[in-house]
Amino acid sequence: TTSATTPIKDEVRALLTQLGVPPQAYSGGDLIVHTPITGEEIAQAPRTTASATAEAIAQAHKAYLEWRTVPAPKRGELIRLLGDELRAALPQLGRLVTIEAGKILSEGLGEVQEMIDICGFAAGLSRQVGGLTLPSERPSHRMMETWHPLGAIGVISAFNFPVAVWSWNAALALVCGNAVIWKPSEKTPLTALATQAIFQRAAAKFGGVPEGLAALLLGDVSVGEQLVTSPLVPLVSATGSTAMGRAVAPRLAARFARAILELGGNNAAIVTPTADLHLTVRAIAFSAMGTAGQRCTSLRRLLVHESVYDTLVPQLKKIYASVVVGDPRDAGTLVGPLIDERAFNAMQKALEQARRDGAEITGGERISFAEIPQAFFVRPALVEIATQTDIVRHETFAPILYVLKYRELEDAIAVHNSVPQGLSSSIFTLNVREAERFLSATGSDCGIANVNIGTSGAEIGGAFGGEKETGGGRESGSDAWKQYMRRATNTINYGTELPLAQGVSFDI
Ligand code: NAD
Repeated sequence: TTSATTPIKDEVRALLTQLGVPPQAYSGGDLIVHTPITGEEIAQAPRTTASATAEAIAQAHKAYLEWRTVPAPKRGELIRLLGDELRAALPQLGRLVTIEAGKILSEGLGEVQEMIDICGFAAGLSRQVGGLTLPSERPSHRMMETWHPLGAIGVISAFNFPVAVWSWNAALALVCGNAVIWKPSEKTPLTALATQAIFQRAAAKFGGVPEGLAALLLGDVSVGEQLVTSPLVPLVSATGSTAMGRAVAPRLAARFARAILELGGNNAAIVTPTADLHLTVRAIAFSAMGTAGQRCTSLRRLLVHESVYDTLVPQLKKIYASVVVGDPRDAGTLVGPLIDERAFNAMQKALEQARRDGAEITGGERISFAEIPQAFFVRPALVEIATQTDIVRHETFAPILYVLKYRELEDAIAVHNSVPQGLSSSIFTLNVREAERFLSATGSDCGIANVNIGTSGAEIGGAFGGEKETGGGRESGSDAWKQYMRRATNTINYGTELPLAQGVSFDI
């Protein structure tokens, strides 16, 4: 059902105006923006031309040369102000995320909250971007490491976290003394424009921010490619499909640039005989159906011990049958639309293949609303399948949960790890041996491994990312900041002798 009382296009315009985006930024261009809620066109943003892109990159590089001389804690002050501006804009930006990306309102707001959280983290970090002091083997010498800014950092982001991914990168990159150039998904330029306006307000309050320190480039793959190939961009943080990573990574490697790759996931959870099923069912439902299965960390595979299978799976089926699918702006909705028709077709194709593989499927059908034929809502699919066939090993970016039965934990872990991706994972158990085994070197091979919570919904305080085809990148918390800086090792001789390392004698 659609609850809107005002036409969605008018609402978008009102939100953008409140967020400080002028109409010319989203009118008259050829980057056509649709809302997945109704499928209708809501804006036409002008694309950034190739020459404007080159200019923005050059300007960002210049801005970095100046910004790197600003003391880090002072740079942290800019990010603190950004956090304040985001707090003030939270209701509007959260709603715009919902309209542009289709996630339910609490998730839209939650995404902006993550932006606020990373600003707090980065502001504190601005006083901690220091290195170690190390013992020197030579008398009257000291060794230490110093962390320096890197340059203009490229950020390429996906449609499903249209603004948070920028902030995870930008907040760290900026306190580390870098400039940031952002190429958001071509499907979500409006939330990017709003974020840029919010940043500009923080910059104005800060005063004296070099021009072009945070640049926004709107367009498709070609704009991203320009960022990836520019010698003025020493690091590109790219979030999106594994196919994108496959195109981007060799280009960055060819010019010895750094890459933070945050690519596709195929996340699984193991439910063991001792699992607290009440908690487990809720965790599974949220991880698998939240954001209509369009999170990189969405739960896609469930490995259930045979002793609890017949208790757990019927409960899940009941929830799948009754979960409210509809307008993500409505308070009761838990599952919003798929991003577009392509996503819907990919989902149907995957389900057809699973059926050919002998699966038994609950749900998965389209839910059509007569008044909005261009929107693609689906009932999330629960797919019981005997073995992990090719389609199960593939990431389909839609709410499909493949459910498999297991007998021995050893086998479950083997199946768990035998997919090309390695992002997020969970085990549900009250058995400490099983939990610790899952987290050990011989357990989950993912970048994120959880116990008794689902695969999605990471906190910004931890390093976020995954292994194998997920790309190996880590962003957000912990020591992810180090990637945005270059490390210099310094040796200082405060004596009068010149002792050489390894006792080498070189008498002249
Ligand atoms: P996508 O790969 O279609 O696009 C992502 C971004 O990459 C877009 O901005 C796009 O324009 C750009 N791009 C694509 N090809 C490029 C190229 N050759 N050179 C430069 N830029 C290029 O992904 P999507 O459909 O927007 O997002 C869904 C995918 O993203 C899923 O696979 C999901 O798992 C993944 N994802 C991963 C994470 C993570 O942190 N690991 C987070 C969110 C989404």
